[in-house]
Amino acid sequence: MIDIKKIRADFPILSQKINGKQLVYLDNAATNQKPQVVIDSIVNYYSTFNSNIHRGVHTLSQKATNAYEEARIKLQKHFNAKKSYEIILTAGTTHSINIVATGFSSLLKKGDEIIVSALEHHSNIVPWQMLCERTGAILKVIPMNLEGELVMSEYDKLLSDKTKLVFVNHVSNALGTINPIKKIIDKAHNIGAAVLIDGAQSCPHIKPDLQELDADFYVASAHKLCGPTGVGILYGKAAWLNKLPPYQGGGEMIKKVTFEKTTYADSPHKFEAGTPNIAGVIAFGVAIDYMNAIGFDNIASYEDELLQYATKKLLQIEGLKIYGTSQHKTAVISFNINEIHPFDIGTIIDKLGIAVRTGHHCAQPIMDFYNIPGTIRASFTFYNTFEEIDLLYNALIKAKTMLC
Ligand SMILES: *Cc1c(COP(=O)(O)O)cnc(C)c1O
Repeated sequence: MIDIKKIRADFPILSQKINGKQLVYLDNAATNQKPQVVIDSIVNYYSTFNSNIHRGVHTLSQKATNAYEEARIKLQKHFNAKKSYEIILTAGTTHSINIVATGFSSLLKKGDEIIVSALEHHSNIVPWQMLCERTGAILKVIPMNLEGELVMSEYDKLLSDKTKLVFVNHVSNALGTINPIKKIIDKAHNIGAAVLIDGAQSCPHIKPDLQELDADFYVASAHKLCGPTGVGILYGKAAWLNKLPPYQGGGEMIKKVTFEKTTYADSPHKFEAGTPNIAGVIAFGVAIDYMNAIGFDNIASYEDELLQYATKKLLQIEGLKIYGTSQHKTAVISFNINEIHPFDIGTIIDKLGIAVRTGHHCAQPIMDFYNIPGTIRASFTFYNTFEEIDLLYNALIKAKTMLC
């Protein structure tokens, strides 16, 4: 059960007024808000044990190193990776994807094929296009249907002995569709291709089990999981991490450096050059603890109630059309009202205290598919309420009256 009063009291930002109105924060798919324990963890780090890690023999450095490595183990356990060195701490999903895409430059050859889906975030499209430019590999796309689901029969046709890699997100950030990733992974493995799962949008709602999923790579950002910005993970199976070359050179990632030759450290350090976001990583661990204490099953079932309620309510507005109507979706509603530009509605309801995202949501190919410039996206999480959905509804009616 979700104790909504108690939960909301954990988030100082939620009691704010915006433009003189109570804040209704419905942009959780872009980034969600931080509970006080996460904010305190950052303050506590800088006020009591700020120090560089893995280097000093002094007490503070050891304390910081321990806290940083404990966070890695927390993340390992949460995502159920086999080994802690399979969890690389990065600056976020985009950074994680670029580590893999750049690493594969030396592993692909001309004519190899890589597959992405039509439902991807730009950060899971552009790095692969750049990889194709460098290597001469060819990018193929699993198409989507009008409901916003991937067409799996077309995926089957794309797979061949030329396929080396497959990249899909677990949940589409623009539409909320939950993709059948286990099937996608198993089919790719049958023909010997590796799979990267972009979990940025799913892991705030669905706790993944990486060993059961059997993905070769999995990436996510802390800031969509109640953690700070600029932190994330790259999970890779040990065998792949050994094969991939390092992404950046620098301190912390070496075994031995001479001017003739440098040998690299083992994973995870091989991929963690330079001083990392120490406070951010520690706070990421605190955020994971916070969410686990609420419970991902509780979160998912409460969010599903919010989704059902909001869908019914919004569809009462004449001319409102929802994009992404898959049976399997997270609490994201992407919509337009008649031909009104999403930006105009977003601007008016912001004056009423309501924060939604408008635009292409870093997924322009999806907007092109529907032949629209963008959508209004309301994305709900476990601290949102049914009353907030009513406030959204009222604000949309007001905006519609003003603009029609
Ligand atoms: C947010 C998001 C990203 C990008 O994450 P960053 O934290 O901005 O690097 C990538 N993919 C999906 C599906 C997302 O929702």
